[in-house]
Amino acid sequence: MSSLVAENIKQFSKALEGKATLIAVSKTKPVEDIAEAYEAGHRDFGENKIQEMADKYEQLPKDIRWHMIGHVQGNKIKYMAPFVHLVHGIDKAKRLKELDKEAAKNDRVIDCLLQVHIAKEDTKFGFDEVELTEVLTESPEEKYPNVRIRGLMGMATFTDNELQVRNEFKGLFQIYSKAKAQLGLPHFDILSMGMSGDYQLAIDEGSNMVRIGSSIFGERNYQSK
Ligand SMILES: *Cc1c(COP(=O)(O)O)cnc(C)c1O
Repeated sequence: MSSLVAENIKQFSKALEGKATLIAVSKTKPVEDIAEAYEAGHRDFGENKIQEMADKYEQLPKDIRWHMIGHVQGNKIKYMAPFVHLVHGIDKAKRLKELDKEAAKNDRVIDCLLQVHIAKEDTKFGFDEVELTEVLTESPEEKYPNVRIRGLMGMATFTDNELQVRNEFKGLFQIYSKAKAQLGLPHFDILSMGMSGDYQLAIDEGSNMVRIGSSIFGERNYQSK
């Protein structure tokens, strides 16, 4: 018995070894698919809806590291606070505050990334550089003691223009490097950028965490069953 998901996971893990952490993006996919990747040894999974992630968490082995890669709604943070491994999409200071509060209730320090708006599309969320600098220079470790900012996340514009995508990733890497130098915190070490269509460019430009969905699990079907 060989499964396609398991094969894909093995190939990606091998190709990315020593370069970037692989987050297998399982949104909309059934727990059976995740279980196959788990059996193949994979532990890092990404979801973009808090409720869906919480449901899957209930059904699957507890050593899975769950990544919230989607837009975070403040009123839903409580559902993931007990178990989430890394929150990629913190896009305003208010969310940091809410995450801190829910983390404290669970006696945890929750790792997160700040999402930076690098695309030329309004549909994507994130801090601009000025807002980001503001948050990072106002002693976030003291202000939000139950949150640890581990780095940055960004999504490039959805376009065939490779040069544009590359430049957006380049820009985010520069912001990341500058922030890392300014903060001087050893645990600020994650740059999450790159998906199925652009992960190679992202790694070229300094990504060390990629979020791959359709190339592992196949195309998503958003229609109701
Ligand atoms: C869905 C999603 C991905 C994965 O996209 P693919 O193109 O299927 O690899 C990565 N990052 C985020 C934030 C997503 O929502």
